[in-house]
Amino acid sequence: MKLLEDKILKEGIVINNNILKVDHFLNHQIDTKLIDAFAEEVKNYFKDISVDKILTIEASGIAIAYAVSEKYGHLPFVFARKNKSSIIDENVYKTEIKSFTQNKITNVTVAKNFLRKGERILIVDDFLAEGNAAMGLIDICQQAGAIVVGFADMIEKEFQGGKKRLIEKGVKVFSGAVIKAFKDNKPIF
Ligand code: 5GP
Repeated sequence: MKLLEDKILKEGIVINNNILKVDHFLNHQIDTKLIDAFAEEVKNYFKDISVDKILTIEASGIAIAYAVSEKYGHLPFVFARKNKSSIIDENVYKTEIKSFTQNKITNVTVAKNFLRKGERILIVDDFLAEGNAAMGLIDICQQAGAIVVGFADMIEKEFQGGKKRLIEKGVKVFSGAVIKAFKDNKPIF
């Protein structure tokens, strides 16, 4: 998406040729028009695939999931919760996700009530880096017996390998912008 690439070039800040800060439009202040344009592209990309529910992870995925859900005629969306401590609760599916930005393991849960066997799930998130968040959400869907029909991220950092892992798992991936590398703290698309 040219619109998104331009926004990244104008307002994104790259740290250590590794992390892209997008607080101006995605992770703190939110550009709803940009997210809406992304959601439209997602709907087009997955137009031949039926979707029952959108799944994301708190916090930054929530606004994106809302926009995508709206494009699908207000499908329900569910966000996985990050828990500070490991929890013992029979009513949730749980998994562990290594955080890319904070280098720690987070316990992530979704209530069993909100993911059902056979439901067709489209997962959305703000970034795709190594693919750990995506794999964790896929794990939760598998525990529920739900079917992951695709994964859509706004910004993929291709060189960190996440998409490859998802494709190897048979998951169709759409990225709004694909960063091939960072050079001198500038993204190369
Ligand atoms: P992954 O699990 O694919 O390695 O990383 C994706 C998750 O880490 C996303 O949920 C996102 O919040 C965070 N993340 C990964 N890379 C970046 C980055 O460059 N910038 C920001 N702001 N978040 C990132």
